[in-house]
Parts: sequence; structure tokens; C-alpha cells
Amino acid sequence: VLMSNAGFSSSSYVGDLLQAQPIKEQSNVDMETQSCSFSSQLVPESKGLSKQIASVPFGLLFTPFQVQCGEALRKPPSQCSQCSAYVNCFSSVVFNRDHSASWTCSFCGTVNTYLQASEGLQIGEPQREHFMELMQSEVDFIDPLQQPFVSRGSSPPFYMFLVDGNITKADMQDLARTLTHILKELPEGCHVGFISFTTILSLYETTCGDHVSCEVYSGLNILEEDEIEVLRSQRQKFIAPIEVARKNVISIVHYIAHAAEEKLPGQKNSNQQRAFGSAIHLALQLGKTLDSEHSHGGHIISILNGCPNYGLGGVLESFSQEQEIDYRVDEATKFYRNQAQLARRNNITVDLYCVGLQSFRVRVLQNLVLSNGGSVLLVKEFADSQLLENMQLGIRRSGGRRNGSFDIRM
Ligand SMILES: [Zn+2]
Repeated sequence: VLMSNAGFSSSSYVGDLLQAQPIKEQSNVDMETQSCSFSSQLVPESKGLSKQIASVPFGLLFTPFQVQCGEALRKPPSQCSQCSAYVNCFSSVVFNRDHSASWTCSFCGTVNTYLQASEGLQIGEPQREHFMELMQSEVDFIDPLQQPFVSRGSSPPFYMFLVDGNITKADMQDLARTLTHILKELPEGCHVGFISFTTILSLYETTCGDHVSCEVYSGLNILEEDEIEVLRSQRQKFIAPIEVARKNVISIVHYIAHAAEEKLPGQKNSNQQRAFGSAIHLALQLGKTLDSEHSHGGHIISILNGCPNYGLGGVLESFSQEQEIDYRVDEATKFYRNQAQLARRNNITVDLYCVGLQSFRVRVLQNLVLSNGGSVLLVKEFADSQLLENMQLGIRRSGGRRNGSFDIRM
């Protein structure tokens, strides 16, 4: 790594170094394949300007023996269901007429379904030559669903809060204070919904002013299509204009805080259950048709105090039987990837605020957020102002303005 702190006298010096034209603004720089990359992609236009900012350090990252690889495949690699090995040039593949394919694992002999067989190969019969991973000994995969995405849209038309019903009384009171601030800052004209989840899902009416009212469902399975239809037909009850919802959401949080259990000193969270998967599914199903004419999308803000562990999308925090937990992680990953795709298609951003020092299985949860511009944020405690600060940044960011990154304290 070479670092220059002296500033540079002209942009052609940099140009010579790279044997390229002087750069004013270089976009689409692929950091993966460049052996040379700058700490800044903006270079002063004139000598005068470069003198003025000479105190700003300018760095160059140089990788002398970087292997230049070909174009990466934009899909996840197929993995053996038995031993997790990747499909490769030694795998034998059988292509079927319906564009499906199966491949035999070269390590354990398991026959697997080839999920990507039909991708980009709608015309003509798929052949081995069409699959780079079957032809070359080395290929790069970029999984589109694991790539961070930045939304460029204007403020989304709705915000849906998903709150873990296992949050203790004191923490819920702190959360109520945080949400009061957040609701004040939501843009005029938006709509707001609220769902809480334990083993059951509670979908609250955010239009009721004088009392708290909610629909209750089992969280073990996702809602049936006809139940969703009924809810969609009356969704103005659940996703209210901000002017009304501002006061009501706070009453709901105070109501939950009132009903929540006090945490005794030294008490563990082990008996808490979270049907987060069913909750996110319900939020997406309700949100996706809120304003079908405008694809401004929405923003789902989820707050958890432990790992999802009930129903679909549940993974256990600890479990004695290894195989069972592997199965649950795989199933949950698949489930969240499907939900992420649905969110992405409807321009809905999903943010997860995981509060506490439990294991949240971020590697599983990030499948839900990365492709739609969301994040998984770990925060130490509800009383910490960091939760509010990051939530404020998260809301502004999903509004399309990239004026802030999250603040993470170690
Ligand atoms: Zn295998």
C-alpha cells in the first residue's frame, strides 16, 4: 500500500502512474478487478484547486500481483444439498427439456437440482457451454441478493414499525421515547403502520384515537392468501396518515410497555419467542399494494431484542443437535431471500435494529436487507442514544439522500 500525504501537483502525474487519461471523476470503478485504486474518486480540476486542498491526504491502494479474473457471474453458486460443495467443472450435469437441470456432486455423489438452469437461456436448449462454472476451473460469483443497494427514490409513502413483543417494560419505555422522536421527523403525507410479534402477530389499528385495537394471528405460519386479502381491503385502518398515527403509535407502544413484563435481575431471555418471519411477511404483503400506482415503495423498521426463533424464518440461538440448526439456518436463509426479493420488487427497504448482546445470526438476517437497501444494525441497549441517532440516519437514507452513515461504537 502506498500512501501519499503530500498532495499532488497535477492530475497528469496520477495519470502517468496509471498509464491512463487524467481523471476528473471516475465512475463505475470496479475495486475488485483494479490493481490500483485511489482513496478518492474525485481529482481537482485545476492546479489552483489542488494547492488549496493539498492538506487533504490522498491515498493509492496498489496490489502488485493481483490476478485479473474474468467477468463474475451474477448469481449465487449452486451448492450440494448434502455436503455444501459448489457445482464445478468436474460435475456432470443433465439438462432437461423444460430448462431444468440436475447435477451430480463430484464429492459425495448427491444429485442436486440446478436452480439457475433457465436463467438467461430462454431461447434454445441449455448446454454445458452456457455455464461458465462448468467450463472453467475458477469462476467468481456475485450474488445480487447479497449486494448492498442504495435507494434513490423520494420519501417512501409508508413506514411500518415491527416491534418485538418480548422487549421488557423498561426497554419498551425507552423505545417509546425513541419512537416519539422518530415519528415527529417522518415526512408529512406519509402513512404509518405498527405490528408487534411474539408467538402471535398483533396488527394494530393506527387510526383508533381513543383506544388500542388490533387483529391477532398465530405467528407459526405465514398468513393465508385469503386472510391477506381481507386485511388489504381494510388497510386504511392499519396504515394511517402520519397526522393521526403520530399520537396513536405512541399510545400503542405505551400500551405494550404497560403489558410487558418486568425483567428480573439476572433473568435470561431464553423463553422468549419471536415469529419475526411471519411478521415481516405480513408487513410486506400489506405494504406492497398500498399505492400500486406509484412505486415509491415503503420502509419497514424492525426492532428486535433477540434472534427470530419461532415459525418460518426462525433460527435457534443455541441448540444441542447440530443438524437441526443447520436445517433451520438453511430454511430461514431461503425464506428471507424470498422476502427480500418481494421487498426489492416493491421498492420497500427493510431495516433491522437488533438491540442487546444476544446472538442475532446476522449472516442469516442480512439476506433480508442487503438487496433492498436496508441494514442490520446491532445496538447495545435501548437506553443508548445511538439507537435514536441511527434510526434517524436510517430514515433519511431510505429517503434517497445519502447524507449519513451509521454510527457504530465499539
Ligand atoms: Zn456433495
